[in-house]
Amino acid sequence: MAAPVVAIVGRPNVGKSTIFNRMAGERIAIVEDQPGVTRDRLYAPAEWLNYEFRMIDTGGIELGDAPFLAEIRAQVELAIDEADVIVMITSGREGVTSADEVVAKMLYKTDKPVVLAINKVDNPEMRQDIYDFYSLGLGDPFPVSGSHGLGLGDLLDEVVKHFPDEAAEQEDEGAIKFSIIGRPNVGKSSIVNAMLGEDRVIVSSIEGTTRDAIDSRFVTPEGDEFIMVDTAGMRKRGKVYENTEKYSVMRALKAIDNSNVILMVIDAEAGIREQDKHVAGFAHEAGRAMIIVVNKWDAVEKDDHTMKEFEDLIRSEFKFLDYAPITFVSAKTGQRLDRLPQLVKDVDNNHRKRISSSTLNDVIMDAIAINPTPSDNGRRLRVYYATQVAIQPPTFVIFVNDVELMHFSYERFLENKIREAFDFTGTPIKLIVRARK
Ligand code: GDP
Ligand code: GDP
Repeated sequence: MAAPVVAIVGRPNVGKSTIFNRMAGERIAIVEDQPGVTRDRLYAPAEWLNYEFRMIDTGGIELGDAPFLAEIRAQVELAIDEADVIVMITSGREGVTSADEVVAKMLYKTDKPVVLAINKVDNPEMRQDIYDFYSLGLGDPFPVSGSHGLGLGDLLDEVVKHFPDEAAEQEDEGAIKFSIIGRPNVGKSSIVNAMLGEDRVIVSSIEGTTRDAIDSRFVTPEGDEFIMVDTAGMRKRGKVYENTEKYSVMRALKAIDNSNVILMVIDAEAGIREQDKHVAGFAHEAGRAMIIVVNKWDAVEKDDHTMKEFEDLIRSEFKFLDYAPITFVSAKTGQRLDRLPQLVKDVDNNHRKRISSSTLNDVIMDAIAINPTPSDNGRRLRVYYATQVAIQPPTFVIFVNDVELMHFSYERFLENKIREAFDFTGTPIKLIVRARK
């Protein structure tokens, strides 16, 4: 499940974004059909041959008014911390510059594979000039042209050669993988520490064999096994990039990629921010199970209505997450934290729930009986049958006479009926409408 991560580094203007966009290709241009869901170019899916991976454009990290070199340093540091393979980009037009040397020097310190690309080599004559780049000490330079799309195949061939061996990845049969995400300072580390505290047996901290994520495995007194994904990202590492918004978004996306259940933490004191919605949108789109955790509940002045009011606010701000349970906790006092593992287990069960076709069709036919299917120009939608085709998230195909006749509102109605009949708390469900000939 964990896709390898490729980071692109280099001084400004060498063409990092251009190459990033080329590599991420069309897959980046996914239609935004959900309110509150936007795409972040900092962390994009990509594929080459039969490899799927993630790309980070470290140029997206902005430290505000930090000096130019500090910013480059932060970007390279981020790449070294997060990536499986690092691609350093330079420009064949300008040749080797002192800023390139700064980047290269930093890269010597990592034992992660580094591939050197010389961009803006727009025509074959310019290939002579790439030999100077051997002086950077990073091995063979690969000439490319981001704007013309030249040489990228050879570069990608080299990149995928360095991907971690899948066989080396650990098998996690039976354990529930979850992660804790949220903006900086909402209390993620505090929750992690509390959850991994005294009364849990931590079986092992799985030091990533292939990447530096640390997953913590623990067993509850009831015998349920959990893997908290990427707890390393939660530890205070004191890196300059750590509190940038882009970094925390990227971190969240990586965690979403690698887990089945997401605990999204909101700060009860600070309230809901745009970034919370942004990240939640990704988890929803990725089809992960989700729990909304409102932390710092101890710090809020409360009366009988406060919890209900906060819940209403969350429901109106995260309309697309109407299936996610909301829980109010305090990492400081420990309030309700002991219930989180059971909640994770419940939504994980719902996320992998299978409904038999006969039961499902009874529910659909009953639904149609109360609320007849819509019609258009005298033609009525006919629903023939439905069947579940996938789990995580539960995905249903509904066969009809004409896909055009299925309205969004009717689909929504059917989804609600399915949710009324079966417990799908915490998981998105997908309906796919197909025409049957
Ligand atoms: P970044 O700052 O490293 O992300 O660089 P950009 O991707 O924004 O590119 C900087 C400039 O270089 C832009 O004006 C691009 O159009 C230009 N550029 C990018 N790739 C190439 C290339 O392969 N050949 C040429 N001639 N120009 C390029
Ligand atoms: P992270 O950046 O999301 O990992 O957040 P931290 O766990 O580092 O917490 C940020 C700050 O919030 C710290 O000063 C914590 O002491 C404080 N904090 C975390 N959880 C709680 C809580 O439940 N109640 C209160 N009052 N403060 C908390």
